[in-house]
Amino acid sequence: MTTRLQAEASILEEVTRAADELVDFTIDLVKMPTVNPPGEGYRECAELIGGKLQAFGHQTAYITADASAEHSDAYPRVNVLGRREGSGGGPTVHFNGHFDVVPAGGGWTVDPFAGVVREGRLYGRGSADMKAGLACALFAVEAVRRAGVELAGSVEISGTVDEESGGFAGLAHLAEQGLVARGKTDHVIIPEPLDVDRVCLGHRGVYWFKVISEGRIGHGAMPFLGVNAIEQMGPVLEEIRRRLKPSLEQRRTAMPVVPDAARQSSININSILGGQAGQEPQTPCVADRCEAVFDRRFVVEESLEATRAEIADLLERVAAQDEARQYSLEELMVVRPTLTEEDDPLVLALARSIESVLGRQPELVASPGTYDHKHVARIAGIDSCVAYGPGALEQAHQPDEWCSIDDMVNATRVMALTLLDLAGETN
Ligand SMILES: [Zn+2]
Repeated sequence: MTTRLQAEASILEEVTRAADELVDFTIDLVKMPTVNPPGEGYRECAELIGGKLQAFGHQTAYITADASAEHSDAYPRVNVLGRREGSGGGPTVHFNGHFDVVPAGGGWTVDPFAGVVREGRLYGRGSADMKAGLACALFAVEAVRRAGVELAGSVEISGTVDEESGGFAGLAHLAEQGLVARGKTDHVIIPEPLDVDRVCLGHRGVYWFKVISEGRIGHGAMPFLGVNAIEQMGPVLEEIRRRLKPSLEQRRTAMPVVPDAARQSSININSILGGQAGQEPQTPCVADRCEAVFDRRFVVEESLEATRAEIADLLERVAAQDEARQYSLEELMVVRPTLTEEDDPLVLALARSIESVLGRQPELVASPGTYDHKHVARIAGIDSCVAYGPGALEQAHQPDEWCSIDDMVNATRVMALTLLDLAGETN
């Protein structure tokens, strides 16, 4: 029979012993250019993770979202799920990491898909966001096994696709299939790069919409005979800039959103398209259509209904000023804000582990953008979900993205102790 302290000590020792293996596996993951869009090499990457899960004693299944719009023979949406059964009576702890990455883009001084290690940092697209975090989850669970500690609860690890484009063929699909679900899954940890000493409780809401301005075509030499839809979009942009934006900036939230400038509501103009945009040659026409896409982020104190109504009212107000103005509103995407309770057992367990590994209290934060937590909350109906993982949020999607190897090892320690804490040892 081992004491809890002995179990913790041997688990931490196994993490230290596996540090090189952890880095090597992360390098292997970074070398797979799982670029999204279009979703390259998903099957190969899922198999790499699945192979490791199998070697680590998990029952492994591949779940392909073949009915999803993004799936094709050339770019299959393949997810992988591993599970190790506990001895019984404990909760199920699920680790989820997405293995898709955004395109490398320009400005790199190292090969983005070589997995270069230099001065304690692992460089590469997806190193921080979030292949290191996924690798850490695998090795955290494995350290518990190598230490010979038997858990009462079960543990699952999923590697999923498409997080960078909404996660619908990824974690959302697993939730829709009932593979991640309330009553079956008790706690979910998503090792997104939020820093080794921070626990992310949730994120703001998203209201993505398109405004369409309809005009009337006419000859460009006699513009007075038409109605220019681009010109009519002007007052909408002006109303947003002069009235809505300042009002949103006043709406600070109790959600601990980082960075501080994001701790409020916001709106961004994503795109604008009107007339014969991008077409060559141009013909002399009055633009009869203009579309603009907006990204409105709302906080937990605002309702989705009020957020929607505010935009509809704004358009109505602007339209009322001139009878030639005709606008319609199209909803593109809605994500409600989500926030896990600060005293949730998962948050408390992570906080204890962070304190024990790093010797300091964690900062509880919320993310400015959304990630797969939304699917865990809305589709799976699970309240106990956080993001915790190595790497800095500021590294995500940047050239020369990197993750600190020390942070990877520490995050693995924290996740392993958290698993022990939650899933419980059987003596
Ligand atoms: Zn991510």
